[in-house]
Amino acid sequence: MRAFVLEQWPARTVFAPGAIAGVGAELRRLGANRVLLVHSRSAGAAAERIATDLGERLALRWGDVAQHVPSELAERARAAARQAGCDAVVCVGGGSAIGLAKAVALTSRVPIVAVPTTYAGSEQTSVYGITGGLHKQTGKDPFVQPRAVVYDPELTLDLPADVTGPSAFNALAHAVEALWAPGANPVTAAVALESVRCIAGALPAVMERPRDLEARGQLLVGAALAGMALGATAPGLHHKICHALGGLHDLVHADAHSVVLPHVVWFNAPDLPEEMARLAAALGRPGDDPAAALVDLAVASHVPTSLSALSGRTGRLQRNELDVVAEEVARDAPVNPRPVDARDVLTILERAYVGHRPARPTS
Ligand code: NAD
Repeated sequence: MRAFVLEQWPARTVFAPGAIAGVGAELRRLGANRVLLVHSRSAGAAAERIATDLGERLALRWGDVAQHVPSELAERARAAARQAGCDAVVCVGGGSAIGLAKAVALTSRVPIVAVPTTYAGSEQTSVYGITGGLHKQTGKDPFVQPRAVVYDPELTLDLPADVTGPSAFNALAHAVEALWAPGANPVTAAVALESVRCIAGALPAVMERPRDLEARGQLLVGAALAGMALGATAPGLHHKICHALGGLHDLVHADAHSVVLPHVVWFNAPDLPEEMARLAAALGRPGDDPAAALVDLAVASHVPTSLSALSGRTGRLQRNELDVVAEEVARDAPVNPRPVDARDVLTILERAYVGHRPARPTS
């Protein structure tokens, strides 16, 4: 029997098609009168709708967001928010818009209302990240956790396939790692498994029919649950590998999720028979190998399955670059059920490079 402590998610979560209409009410509940509206450029139409609803309560609109929240951008947004006397921030868009809202809230202590339009999950965590040069400083602060999250699946209907697939696999990886990450407990496991069930059930359908509201809704529920599971636990080996790949080769790191996840699952499988059985069942393949089921899901969802197919700023990733990535991951390896060194990471990366369908390990 494992002892555990559970801190309930402090945010209010609202989920409905058309829920964007209630964003103004959420801000009113928080007593906000001078609102900063942060939005991804691609979420401009949704931002316009919120701006109209807010009327005079809109103090500042900010459409300049960037991946990984550059510190210079965070400083500019903070200064503008201060000057405008903002007492709350609403963000609409992907993890980049939410990340910038968190950077503002970190120093100004104003509450956030988040309206996510991707599946990143940041809206359900108290984790922030700000990048200075090549270094990303991350931390946890309860003040940056959005006080209300408004999920509106209609806002995701036009999310392009090349964002939808990788972003959904990012969420799936958060849910899968939450099954064994530090902080995992029976409640987070139930949330994570339901997340896996929703994402695996909906993603192939969404890729076939991007404007299927029912399937988009199920996928967004899965992403919301993945965010909750992540918020209560921590990212693990999978995310460490994807970040290292992104950093060293400037790959679009979201593209690595569907490639790496099956092989991290394969690596951990011998130490986690119970978790693997539950994962396979949540993937709709009871009794089967969950690593193989994840590859099949990636294929059905038309997302990458081999590292050799991914390109970064400097072209395709070469096999002889994997050593550097393995060393970097092992230098500061995350807590993992199975001890992991550079050789193990290299094994995972080499399997991911060719992208073969994992078979159950024998040891
Ligand atoms: P993102 O916000 O950059 O969005 C990805 C792409 O999707 C962008 O091109 C964006 O313009 C586009 N997009 C967003 N919404 C759209 C819409 N409705 N229609 C069309 N296009 C749309 O990135 P992301 O993948 O959402 O999030 C990744 C970022 O979030 C990373 O910086 C990551 O570190 C961070 N993150 C943080 C946490 C946390 O807990 N702090 C958790 C997960 C992710």
